Amino acid sequence: MHQQAIDTETALFGVFGAPVRHSRSPLMMNRAFASVGFNGLYAAFHVEPEQLAQAVGGIRALGFRGVNVTIPHKVQVMAYLDEIDDGARQIGAVNTIVNDNGKLIGYNTDGIGYARSLQEEAGFEPSGKHIVLLGAGGAARGVAWALARQHPASLTIANRTPEKAQELALALAPYTDTLGVSYDALAGRLAQADLVVNTTSAGMHPHTSLMPLDPALLPAGALVSDLIYNPLTTRFLERAAAQGARTHGGLGMFIYQGAYAFEYWTGLSAPVQAMRQAVEHALAVNE
Ligand code: NAP
Repeated sequence: MHQQAIDTETALFGVFGAPVRHSRSPLMMNRAFASVGFNGLYAAFHVEPEQLAQAVGGIRALGFRGVNVTIPHKVQVMAYLDEIDDGARQIGAVNTIVNDNGKLIGYNTDGIGYARSLQEEAGFEPSGKHIVLLGAGGAARGVAWALARQHPASLTIANRTPEKAQELALALAPYTDTLGVSYDALAGRLAQADLVVNTTSAGMHPHTSLMPLDPALLPAGALVSDLIYNPLTTRFLERAAAQGARTHGGLGMFIYQGAYAFEYWTGLSAPVQAMRQAVEHALAVNE
């Protein structure tokens, strides 16, 4: 690994969020830069919503090459950019900004990061498959969009607030057979699912005993996936695995959303293994 000295040529990057101190992105991205010998530096910036416009102005004024935005800025930031990629526009949120010689372009790498992780880590190809998403929040939007574009046989979205599931299902209807339902109305679609994905925050630290759905309802033979990576294995996945299901955790989504951002910013292939090691090490140290 080649450790680059910080000098006047160093390209600057960062993540804007509130809160942001828990973010693993600086560790992961600086490891990525070091491991390919790219002269870049990535830091975390706590930006309150009322300061977001000025912070984006700072990207322009200081010539930052790229920035990630996280909770709570993913929607609001779109108003301050010059161009929004089609995917990000459809999802309605941006998590990656590229400064292309003064023009700020917004992308969303969350959903495509998830789809790549699903393919690389679980060997799952969405095409022709029946997919059930649990949840219809911000992360679900990106994941649903990325999966729908790969032509599954059906995409069913269940949510505690069913209106949000119906709205998302309607937006994705041009791509595949979609349905938005309440958990009570999910049984038929669940029984034929090839992939069940928890996109809700149920089970995330510190509420690790929560589950989005009774695992006894999961169909035999389905791949069961969870976007949560803190903890690395949720109770939902533990219970699914105990019933014999194949499982897929959320760490890969985090790594691949960062890998896409790295690739957009540098034009280089992301050193995915090194990025994974950096995050796994940080999570293990804090456990
Ligand atoms: P969000 O926009 O706040 O959406 C939360 C979703 O969870 C909503 O659908 C909500 O339902 C549902 N929900 C919350 N508590 C629930 C419960 N007890 N039972 C059933 N449903 C519940 O959050 P988000 O940004 O989409 O994030 C969701 C999860 O994805 C988080 O755990 C986050 O850590 C994870 N995530 C992971 C990655 C990654 O890189 N791996 C990236 C992004 C997000 P209602 O609509 O009814 O409130």
